[in-house]
Amino acid sequence: MAGIWIFAENHKHCLELLNPGQKLAQKLGSPLAIFLWQDKELIKDYVSHGAEQIFVLPPLAADQTLEAYVPLIADLARREQPDVFLLGSSLRCKEMAARIAASLNTGLCSDCIAFNLNDSKALEMERLIFGGAAIQKVICVTSPQMATIPAGTFEAGPAQSPGEVRIVELADPLPSVVKLIDKKSNAHQSANLTEARVVVCVGRGLEKESDLGMARELAELLGAEIGCTRPISEELHWLPEDTCIGLSGIKVKPELYIGLGVSGQIQHITGIRDARIIFAINNDENAPIFDVSNYGMVGDVYKVVPQLINELKKTIK
Ligand SMILES: Cc1cc2nc3c(=O)[nH]c(=O)nc-3n(C[C@H](O)[C@H](O)[C@H](O)COP(=O)(O)OP(=O)(O)OC[C@H]3O[C@@H](n4cnc5c(N)ncnc54)[C@H](O)[C@@H]3O)c2cc1C
Repeated sequence: MAGIWIFAENHKHCLELLNPGQKLAQKLGSPLAIFLWQDKELIKDYVSHGAEQIFVLPPLAADQTLEAYVPLIADLARREQPDVFLLGSSLRCKEMAARIAASLNTGLCSDCIAFNLNDSKALEMERLIFGGAAIQKVICVTSPQMATIPAGTFEAGPAQSPGEVRIVELADPLPSVVKLIDKKSNAHQSANLTEARVVVCVGRGLEKESDLGMARELAELLGAEIGCTRPISEELHWLPEDTCIGLSGIKVKPELYIGLGVSGQIQHITGIRDARIIFAINNDENAPIFDVSNYGMVGDVYKVVPQLINELKKTIK
């Protein structure tokens, strides 16, 4: 057997990965398969996005985590010998991918941002290195060729008329030694920054936490989500870690990104490369963010942002 396999934590990410997966499947003449571990209702969506095989994982016991599926998936891979296995780049999927790759004695390209089949039908996978300053090309000579792919790297393809599907129900996994003891929701969790149309990003140009108020007011007027640079979330803890944009945070793809007092170091820019319009306000005309901005304003955020808010209020009224 062969195949292109997909596993991601959420439905949208599954649909995104099915799109490049389908293209690979066509080029390699291999079936496209996806793992389902939640709602069986999703099967029809997967099939209409090209899945030809569904591996249905049994529900997990309340104290089990996704990790419990690792031996099951690795065993299946040993039997079915997929060509390529693409997983999401969420923390849990990355952990699973590493364990599966180790169990299969194969390589893994983590946080892959693009790939291509070369003339020898090997996957050339690309990922950012040196803090986003360079792109590394990875070819894995062992099989399956595995990669984890961040959400939003690919877009879901359009739904097609569904073809035939093979549904394979997998056996209950053996309980993992890793037990889930408690779940706590993240009270501050950002409402989908990765999908926001407008992002207002706060940098160290803001002097104190209470100044976030003006960024929030601007964001509210624009229907934007608030993101930040790493020092704001990791050092100052003004905003939660999952709102940090960049190499060690999330990648955003808004129509409009507004940077307030953001210097524009490469590790941050990595996360905003796909923004359609970048608008930066910074009081240093040499700030590197201006090199990647479509619009830049050299000015003090404490003067510019209140004026912007006033103008927006007049326009929106
Ligand atoms: C391995 C690694 C991974 C990293 N990952 C990330 C990441 O994912 N995301 C990330 O953001 N960073 C990341 N960093 C950190 C990154 O290198 C920068 O340090 C960080 O992005 C800088 O944040 P900043 O722009 O808020 O602060 P600064 O670089 O301090 O910039 C503040 C800017 O505000 C301007 N300013 C000051 N006062 C005003 C004012 N009143 N009005 C207008 N402008 C003003 C200044 O001119 C300056 O340009 C990483 C670093 C490493 C080494």
